[in-house]
Amino acid sequence: MTIDLKSFIRDIPNFPKPGIIYRDIAPLLLDPQAFKAATEAMAAPFDGETVDVVAAAEARGFIFAAPLALHLNAGFVPIRKPGKLPFETHSHSYDLEYGSDELHVHIDGVLPGQRVIIVDDLLATGGTMQACCKLLELCQAEILGCSFLIHLAGLKGETKLEPYRVESAVVY
Ligand code: IMP
Repeated sequence: MTIDLKSFIRDIPNFPKPGIIYRDIAPLLLDPQAFKAATEAMAAPFDGETVDVVAAAEARGFIFAAPLALHLNAGFVPIRKPGKLPFETHSHSYDLEYGSDELHVHIDGVLPGQRVIIVDDLLATGGTMQACCKLLELCQAEILGCSFLIHLAGLKGETKLEPYRVESAVVY
């Protein structure tokens, strides 16, 4: 039986700001079959490929990256906000709508030439994933592609991720 993943994603109008429809994945995470189907759909484009590492930025990226790593027989590497990782890190700063942010990864998290997939729950403007890609470029990783549960296609976030491959399980 095919599971309709969209039926487990709840629309919350006007969150976090007026005019925004927030796609809430909480119902999907509560349903083990939907959660499993979502993970399998995110891994499917890379099935059969050699993947060394699945990387993801905190916090919601972690939820999908860990089961994806197990599914693809790969390791998991966390990408984190400043001050969270205990060992030496590579870092990358990036601009937000207001201000800037920074992401870090351990210098031995991904080794040069390792084949990496980067995962997140949702692709909107692409800024978060672009920053993750830049960080993994600093590690000299081979980025196989980016895998999302949800792609908000109207925002054209995929253009920021060129030339990388962008895969998603659900498109709005
Ligand atoms: P981007 O950097 O603009 O592509 O935004 C993507 C990030 O914002 C992801 O890490 C998401 O977790 C979060 N995000 C943006 N919009 C939504 C939404 O509607 N639902 C859930 N998360 C969202």
